[in-house]
Amino acid sequence: MRNQPAGNVFLITAPSGAGKSSLVNALLENDAGLQLSVSCTTRPPRDGEVDGRDYYFVTPEQFNAMRGSNELLEWAQVHDNFYGTPRAPLTKALELGRDVLLEIDWQGAEQVRHMLPGVTGIFILPPSLDALESRLRARGKDSEEVIAKRMAAASSEIAHAHEFEYVIINQEFSVALQQLEQIVSSARLRYTRQAVMNPALFESFGLPR
Ligand code: 5GP
Repeated sequence: MRNQPAGNVFLITAPSGAGKSSLVNALLENDAGLQLSVSCTTRPPRDGEVDGRDYYFVTPEQFNAMRGSNELLEWAQVHDNFYGTPRAPLTKALELGRDVLLEIDWQGAEQVRHMLPGVTGIFILPPSLDALESRLRARGKDSEEVIAKRMAAASSEIAHAHEFEYVIINQEFSVALQQLEQIVSSARLRYTRQAVMNPALFESFGLPR
């Protein structure tokens, strides 16, 4: 209990098409105490993505060098690319008492859970497989083969939902956002967190920290 960092860590995982990014963006907009961990990736930027904001876009060589020097808290290969969470900014934010949100896949979530006990894992589910398929189709003019590949990838991500503490079913955006905010609020009320944030009060009651 004693050596907990002051901030909370939230892991948010979802199959692509579940609406995770929109929920996370809305959550971050309304909550100044929460910051997003910016991952490194070897995948090329998509239209509109900004280096240092959406991702740190790196070469495979740079990624390997970061892995080799233990600069990544976790990393995983997702589809054909590598993704990883830089360790230093996360550690610093937590020490400052800020809460950090990691938008990572189930493999990364598994690694972080082992390293940082007490993290809060949240899995976002689409309301149905049909809804997921229509969302994936709505993204562009992809071939049937690409859609089938995405659906298969989504199913294997969903198979890990039971490893998470919380599940949000994203049927109605505003409801899902409210549920996400409630999870964040609850985590901030945990004993360990309250004790770290209110040391004088806890001491005055003779409560352990
Ligand atoms: P995209 O390329 O669509 O931005 O992300 C593809 C997948 O990679 C998503 O499932 C996303 O959650 C995951 N991802 C993004 N950053 C990280 C990371 O730092 N670590 C891990 N393990 N997965 C990540």
